[in-house]
Amino acid sequence: ESLDKGLEKSKTGIFDKLTKAIVGKSEVDEEVLDELEEILISSDVGVDTTVKIIRRIEARVARDKYTSTSELDRILREEVAALLQENNSQDVTNSFETQNLPKPYVLMVVGVNGVGKTTTIGKLAHNFSKNGKKVVLGAADTFRAAAVDQLKLWGQRVGVEVIDHGMNTDPSSVAYDAVKKGVEVGADVIIIDTAGRLHTKVNLMNELGKIKRVMQKVLPEAPHEVMLVLDGSTGQNAVIQAREFTRVTDVNSLAITKLDGTAKGGVVIGISDEFKIPVKYIGVGEKMEDLQVFNKMAFVESLFQ
Ligand code: GDP
Repeated sequence: ESLDKGLEKSKTGIFDKLTKAIVGKSEVDEEVLDELEEILISSDVGVDTTVKIIRRIEARVARDKYTSTSELDRILREEVAALLQENNSQDVTNSFETQNLPKPYVLMVVGVNGVGKTTTIGKLAHNFSKNGKKVVLGAADTFRAAAVDQLKLWGQRVGVEVIDHGMNTDPSSVAYDAVKKGVEVGADVIIIDTAGRLHTKVNLMNELGKIKRVMQKVLPEAPHEVMLVLDGSTGQNAVIQAREFTRVTDVNSLAITKLDGTAKGGVVIGISDEFKIPVKYIGVGEKMEDLQVFNKMAFVESLFQ
């Protein structure tokens, strides 16, 4: 039920716009495809991905000789689904054992300030603890006093331990202590918050590299996953951030936040297509429960509701 609620909130309006665009038209022709192109771009799907989708539909239309506008919705769903990356990893928060994840599983979370990184970590911690997993958080975003405080607040709210050294301390030393603590207390999951100051790209690269190297002194295979958090409501800015981050570090998964109450959900399609990194979670609100496991088919359905 909450899944439906969340997805309901991530509507893009593509379907409504499409319905209006094809009123009085029976055949998918160039004019209809032009309208569709505009709809996709205005829904933040991104120009390259939009062009790709339109080309694919054009090819189908040309091959089939006649395509009724009543079929366009289905065809569009199929083409969008084909572009979304399969997320085989499922939700680690409730399938820990079945996936045979290493213990402790170290998740390093990256992203620029304000995208919802701390909130997403809080929600993840909540999901893990709800499923009986022991969680340790590391407040390695030490450049913003508020970031450390916010993470501590989430820790209290969710009832998990937060390792912090206060602000302006060495982030890698926080990460080291958090991983060490996690190992000592037998944690299942260790989640490390990091600072994301994109304006100093070389610094960011060095910083994330150092955090990794230092935590590897405790646990050589850490981090097991680097998750990039993007704010879906910023549309193409999210795409730019994804480009920048994938240049400075390996990124294994994505969490796209603030898809509630935005008409920009289309950005998920473009990002998935461009980066070939699975979207694992979507954020659909500010509360603990507002993190949804990304489900490709459910998402496609929600786009066209
Ligand atoms: P950080 O700087 O990346 O750690 O960002 P925060 O976690 O502090 O989030 C910034 C703001 O976005 C806060 O006001 C959050 O409550 C809000 N926020 C985070 N995720 C979501 C979401 O999925 N939906 C909505 N509506 N707000 C969110």
